[in-house]
Amino acid sequence: MPDKQITATQRELPLAFPELAPDAPLIPVRMVNEYVYCPRLAYLMWVQAEWADSADTVEGRARHKRVDAKADVLPEAPAEDEHIHARSVSLSSATLGITAKLDLVEGEGTWVTPVDYKRGKRPHVEHGAYDPERVQLCAQGLLLREHGYECDSGMLYFVESRERVLVLFDEILIEQTLAAIHGLRGVANIGRFSDAAADVATNTATGRIPPPLEDSPKCPRCSLAGICLPDEVRFLNEAPIAPRPLFAREQLSSPLYVQSPRAWLRKDEERIVIEVEKAKAGEARLNDVSQLVLFGSSGLSTPLLHELMKREIPVSFHTYGGWFVGHVVGLGHRNAETRMHQYRQSFDPKACLHLARGWVAAKIANSRTMLRRNWRGAAEEDGEEAFEQFAAVPSPPAGQGRGEGRASAEADAPQVAPAPSPASDLKAETAPIEAASARPGNDHAPDDLLRSLKEDAHHALRASSLEELLGIEGIAARRYFQNLTHLLRHDDDPSLSFDFMGRNRRPPKDPVNAMLSFAYAMLTREWHIALTAVGLDPYRGYYHQPRFGRPALALDMMEPFRPLVADSAVITAINNGEVRGSDFIRAAGSCAMSDSGRKRFIAAFERRMGHEVTHPLFGYQLSYRRLFEVQARLLIRHLSGEIPDYPNFVTR
Ligand code: SF4
Repeated sequence: MPDKQITATQRELPLAFPELAPDAPLIPVRMVNEYVYCPRLAYLMWVQAEWADSADTVEGRARHKRVDAKADVLPEAPAEDEHIHARSVSLSSATLGITAKLDLVEGEGTWVTPVDYKRGKRPHVEHGAYDPERVQLCAQGLLLREHGYECDSGMLYFVESRERVLVLFDEILIEQTLAAIHGLRGVANIGRFSDAAADVATNTATGRIPPPLEDSPKCPRCSLAGICLPDEVRFLNEAPIAPRPLFAREQLSSPLYVQSPRAWLRKDEERIVIEVEKAKAGEARLNDVSQLVLFGSSGLSTPLLHELMKREIPVSFHTYGGWFVGHVVGLGHRNAETRMHQYRQSFDPKACLHLARGWVAAKIANSRTMLRRNWRGAAEEDGEEAFEQFAAVPSPPAGQGRGEGRASAEADAPQVAPAPSPASDLKAETAPIEAASARPGNDHAPDDLLRSLKEDAHHALRASSLEELLGIEGIAARRYFQNLTHLLRHDDDPSLSFDFMGRNRRPPKDPVNAMLSFAYAMLTREWHIALTAVGLDPYRGYYHQPRFGRPALALDMMEPFRPLVADSAVITAINNGEVRGSDFIRAAGSCAMSDSGRKRFIAAFERRMGHEVTHPLFGYQLSYRRLFEVQARLLIRHLSGEIPDYPNFVTR
């Protein structure tokens, strides 16, 4: 018997709703709206609890705050002629599996109409409104029916144009609404039988993030585009498209560092007030602060800590010497699914080795690029010009914790897919370096050194165990650190000249090592915060093994960025004359930065974090701080199986 064909004029009958598990969550009808707009958006917002504000969402929330100020309840058995006018009515249905807060319900007796407020003007489209809004309203109508009311239409009220649009709950719209509820339950994997039902009803996968929309005009307006990474995910799955510029939200706030050991911070309305020995020493607007960084025994009041946690602004604690002790965040990311993917993969030795190879090879590549671009040679002259040219580029590596040193390979690292069209953009970074290399007085980095590092990177990609990889990383690191001194400015003024004989730590014995240790602690903190913000556990890594208090994943992810961010900040601070010999305190064979030296170095580090680079895969420009978030999100996409590989960031 031939398969039954469904023609365009035939509609599928909605299936009876599957029985919900007793503890299954109810879907907010707002999420049904999002699901019709984009299934992936609903998944990110509801299942993964991701959120990012846009101007639209802020305005929408403010409007709803006003509407929700008063909450009414509907009468249980209204008289036939009873006038109904109820605001912010909460209704739920275990049968439908949805819940909603209705802006307004109007009617008489048992005949009622839901009214939903929408920002903006009425769109001039078929049916008077877009499908997501019509479906959301219909879901409200179905809830009213479930509660014994008669309801065959609803009203959308567009605030800006002050127009009402009537929406009839006809058979087609009701089917569309039920299918959307089924579909969202399916992708969220809710309900005992939700898998089968969702597959039949909407043909969606279950318990997996839906794929991004294809080249959709919805994406540029989507507040979650920077989290979803629609084009990046499609590109990394070899879709024949080049990513559009990232519509990432602007980071207008910046970290607030407090170094004074006697500082006390408190909240004063919308500001943070800094006091030293009860005298006001400074203040900052809460809105301008992205993270609070405290050194030594400086402290803060409980009301301020509560406010920072409420705003999800992390507070980091460092020792007097700059060692990263830990940080405090609010409730943290609610996305347990991401951590489940992370933990599952961390128990797979193959997955661990695969990721570790990529990180080490990328680090060696980036270290090699640092040496190649910024080599000053033994006979240094014209230091200021050389610095200016260096400052436009990335910097060298080093190590903290196990495998203290690690160098890097280059753009030929095979785990990195070929760039779409970044070659021309990368010239912005490469050109000043090439010019520096060509200047008289500047040697090129020795060919055999560059060749050796390139081979190290290739060996890293073929390492058969983490132990072997560790050995390769150590060899490359020694090569790199032995030559780091050739990137430093040597000046006739001894206070501006720094020697570097190799990496040492715990404690650092010379100024360059003191700065490197401090820079790695700052970089660890940045990655710790970036990973926590996207819902990953910074303490469970793949290359760095679990050890008490060690943020293993933060150390993993920062490997390729040690040369590009930490070492670069150190070299820039030295070559630019921002730190001097007098900025260091030496005692008992150890060396530490003074408060004033650290202040200037923090400024150099922050500049580096804000420095814009061209992403070698995606071709758009973004700051290192934003790049960390993008890379963390790409790791999630890889761990969840959405993209085949984690693309490391490797400069050319
Ligand atoms: S960016 Fe596009 S694909 Fe991603 S959630 Fe938003 S609308 Fe959907």
